Amino acid sequence: MSDTDRISGHTKTIALIGTPVEHSLSPAMHNTAFEHNGLDYAYLAYDIASPEQVPAVIEGMKVMGFAGANVTMPYKTLAVKYMDELSPAAELMQAVNTIVFEHGMAIGHNTDGAGFVRNIENHGIDYKGNQVTIVGAGGAGSAIFTQLALDGAGTINVFNRKDDFFEATAQRLSKLGEKTGCNITLFDLADKDALEKSVAGSVLFINATRVGMGSLADESVLDEKYMHEGLAVADTVYDPRETKLIKDAKAKGLVTAPGLGMLLSQAAIGEELWTGHAMPVELIEEKFFN
Ligand code: NAP
Repeated sequence: MSDTDRISGHTKTIALIGTPVEHSLSPAMHNTAFEHNGLDYAYLAYDIASPEQVPAVIEGMKVMGFAGANVTMPYKTLAVKYMDELSPAAELMQAVNTIVFEHGMAIGHNTDGAGFVRNIENHGIDYKGNQVTIVGAGGAGSAIFTQLALDGAGTINVFNRKDDFFEATAQRLSKLGEKTGCNITLFDLADKDALEKSVAGSVLFINATRVGMGSLADESVLDEKYMHEGLAVADTVYDPRETKLIKDAKAKGLVTAPGLGMLLSQAAIGEELWTGHAMPVELIEEKFFN
């Protein structure tokens, strides 16, 4: 079916809002999936230049009957204010990356953490009731440790550089622990003894920093000498597809979950929320990431 045949008077619209958005692969990925599934949906990107425009944009999408949206930087936190309902993860994270418009309401979700969890589960990694070590408490790291805490990880040790936000992050983790019952603590990334001890007792190590990509492509947040038998290793970085961390872990024979699986899974979860249909993940990977 060509695009002109596919778009009809019934076509349901999904939007990407943020700035910048023109580099995003999401429109091409989701439209390919809609076409493959024979679904009467269209996904378009809208560059929203100013935060003042965000409430009108969300209200406009609601009034015009959009089926859903993705929210990207820098509006994931701001969008929370304009939701009628939040999923448990979006509520805890106070960040929305996916909106479903239903019965005149905007329902905010956060699929980053859920995408991460689906990816590790696809790789057979069992974290429930166990100890996990994660480096990075930024947007991706927060989404991941929140979802892992919600989904039953026993202990989560979070390591970050000691920056201006360190104390505020420690308090945020303490509240998350109270709400979820997870034992979750923040450590200084410079404390190598604490990192070594934490990894030694963990079943899963996660990189949620920018280390491993761009100018940091030759670096890893974990020395390979800490990689023990039974440890699984996951990355959020998806470009390159195999970071130094993932290559080192593979060389040691460990189970690994590279970042591309998280990206594809969070897109798939969004698509399921909007359409009720599964995204053809293998087709999308083949077409856009090979
Ligand atoms: P962010 O909010 O800016 O957070 C960046 C994190 O990386 C912070 O914890 C930061 O620590 C840390 N960091 C940066 N440079 C570092 C270094 N040299 N050494 C140690 N820590 C360093 O960014 P984000 O959105 O969380 O993104 C983090 C990574 O996740 C990126 O690589 C991004 O591509 C990836 N990501 C992947 C997906 C996916 O679907 N696979 C989705 C979202 C993000 P400070 O606080 O000390 O600066």
